[in-house]
Amino acid sequence: MQKRYTVAIDLGGTNAKIALIKDEKEILSKEVFSTKDYQGREVLIKQITESVNSLLKDKKVKKTQVKALGIGVPGPVDFEKGVIYQLTNVKGWRDVPLKRILSGKLKLKVYIDNDVNLIALGEYKHGAGKGTKNMICLTLGTGVGGGLILDGRLYRGSNFTAGEVGHIPVNLQGPKCNCGGRGCLERYVGNYYLVERAKELIKGKPNSEILKLAGGRLSKISPEIIDRASKAGDKLALGIWQETGRYIGVALAGLVNVFNPERIVIGGGVALAGEVLFASIRKTVSLRAMEAPARKVKIVPAKLGDEAGLLGASILAAENS
Ligand SMILES: [Zn+2]
Repeated sequence: MQKRYTVAIDLGGTNAKIALIKDEKEILSKEVFSTKDYQGREVLIKQITESVNSLLKDKKVKKTQVKALGIGVPGPVDFEKGVIYQLTNVKGWRDVPLKRILSGKLKLKVYIDNDVNLIALGEYKHGAGKGTKNMICLTLGTGVGGGLILDGRLYRGSNFTAGEVGHIPVNLQGPKCNCGGRGCLERYVGNYYLVERAKELIKGKPNSEILKLAGGRLSKISPEIIDRASKAGDKLALGIWQETGRYIGVALAGLVNVFNPERIVIGGGVALAGEVLFASIRKTVSLRAMEAPARKVKIVPAKLGDEAGLLGASILAAENS
């Protein structure tokens, strides 16, 4: 029987997306459930197995028609063994052999990788990285993640943790970061720190557009609010994006010099700030990277949005099955 299906899972800190995908491209059906209030690992694993079985049943797809299941998780993974080293911001997931657990319960081949690696793979095959051989992917959100496609393949490193663009140090004396380092990129451009920076800048400025849009409440300030203020022409908000772009640009200039990529694809919520952010990133890269690789690289927004991770998980499953 010809196998044309894969099951893809994008496991996040707030929700899990599970999809049945045909030919690594066509999402036939999708289910989303919250992972925020789940009562632990066992409950989540049970929920996943039930969802997979019901998706297959609904679409009348037999397990013998499924190539494999691919799953992306927010944290470092031992790709070969299918063991989660740990999950970022989710407790109780240290050294969990999820591949063995899920393949035992579902009777499917299972492949697990870091979520941003799979976003990179999705964008590379079907999105903004299509047609390249060397591509770097960066995602901007609460965490700042990355993925490297080198010579047409996902590069995982010596024990599969490569691509952590968010933890490139950009300041020798910078503040401590959750990863154990200091002055990492994420410490300046992660959602939480962006918002903190905005709060600091609007101190003593009661007429600030950001504060107005937040209904006068500091606690309501978010990257979306900063974005709206900047789109309304607010100088302070525009300044935040320009500064954010300089931090990102400095880190990317280093990557451009090391890897000489053709394209850098940037996604995630903060990337929606658009041209003001991208212009600042591009300008910084052109000023700070070496001339020849800086001339070559194109820095572009991601194309696939929320679906990149699922498509990447599907590609991972198919490539390894
Ligand atoms: Zn760090």
